Amino acid sequence: MRILVTGGAGFIGANLCNELLSRPEVGGVTVLDDFSTGNASNIDFLRVEVVKDTILSRDTVAELVSRSDAVVHLAAQPSVPLSIMDPVSSHEVNMNGTVGILEACRNFHKAFIFASSSAVYGQTQKLPINEDDAAAPASPYAANKLAAESYALAYASTYHFPVAAFRFFNVYGPLQTPDHPYAAVIPSFIDAALHGRPLVIYGDGSQSRDFTYVGSLVKVLADAALKKVASPSPVNLAFGNRTTIIDLAKKIESIIGRSIDLQFSGPRPGDVQNSQADNSRLRALMPEARDSALDDGLRATIDWFSLGNSVRSLPTAVARV
Ligand code: NAD
Repeated sequence: MRILVTGGAGFIGANLCNELLSRPEVGGVTVLDDFSTGNASNIDFLRVEVVKDTILSRDTVAELVSRSDAVVHLAAQPSVPLSIMDPVSSHEVNMNGTVGILEACRNFHKAFIFASSSAVYGQTQKLPINEDDAAAPASPYAANKLAAESYALAYASTYHFPVAAFRFFNVYGPLQTPDHPYAAVIPSFIDAALHGRPLVIYGDGSQSRDFTYVGSLVKVLADAALKKVASPSPVNLAFGNRTTIIDLAKKIESIIGRSIDLQFSGPRPGDVQNSQADNSRLRALMPEARDSALDDGLRATIDWFSLGNSVRSLPTAVARV
C-alpha cells in the first residue's frame, strides 16, 4: 500500500512516516508538506517521497491522492494563538485545505484519516470528556478543526468512502521541539531541565492533561490507514490519563536524576484547567490500541533530547537509506 501523509515533515507526521516504514504492508510513503512548521531534518533519514507544496494546491493534491491507497491528513496551521491573530489564514489551511483533500478522496475513492483536536471541547468542566458531549470551540483553530471534522464525516456519509476523524489530546515525544507552537509543556520542561534552567509553571501546577505518547498515537494512525478504519462519528485518540503539571515536573526530575527548580508564573489566559479523554469509542473501534506508560514515554523523549534531537535517534527509527 502507498500512504499519503500530509504534514509528514512535522512532529507527528515524521513519527508516523517512521512507523509506516516499519510495516510490511507499506510499499511507499509520500509526504506532502510546505515546511511552514515542519522540518526537512525530521524526514531526511527516512525513505519517503517528499513533495514540497501546499495542501491548497488542488492539482498536486489530486495527483498524490490518485496514486495513494489512503491519506492521513495532518497538515495544518496548528497554533491556537496564531489562529487568533490571523483567523482567515488558519481557516484557509485547516478548513479549505481539508475540503480540497476530501474532494480528491471522493473523486478517487480513497480512505481518509483526519487529525482533529480536543480543542473542539473548549473550556468544558466535564471529565472525562466523550465525543457526545457538546463541542464549544473557543478559538478560530478549534472552530476550523470542528468544521473540517464535520465536513470529513459528511463526505463519508454522502459519498461513501472510509473516513475516520480522531481528536488528539496533548501529544508529546521525540521530534517535538521546545519552540513548537502546540502543547509544548513536555519539550519545554525537558529542554529547561537538561540545560539547568528552572521549569516555568503557569498557575499553581494543579492543572491536568491527558498526555499521549506520540509512539502510541502513530501506531493507531498507521493501523487506521492500513485497515481503512471508518467511524461515522469523531473518535477521541487518547488513553484517559490525568497528570498534573506538578506531577509531570516531578517525574522529569526523577528520570533526569537531579533536583530541578520550579518557577511559578501567573496563569495563562485561555488555558483549560483539566483535560481527560473518555476513550471508550476508540477501544471499541480499535481494541488493539495501546498506551505507553508516561514514565516510559518521558524516558524515550529525554533520551531523544540527550542524543542530539535527530530522527536517527527515534526509538523505533527505521533506517531505510
Ligand atoms: P506540526 O506543526 O509539527 O506539523 C504540521 C505540519 O503541517 C508541518 O510539517 C507543516 O509544515 C505542515 N503544513 C502546515 N501548513 C501546510 C500547508 N498549507 N500545506 C502543506 N503542509 C502544511 O504539528 P503536529 O503537532 O505534528 O500536528 C499535526 C496535526 O495534529 C495537526 O493537524 C494538529 O492540528 C493536530 N493536533 C496536534 C496535537 C498535538 O498535541 N501536537 C493535538 C491536537 C491536534
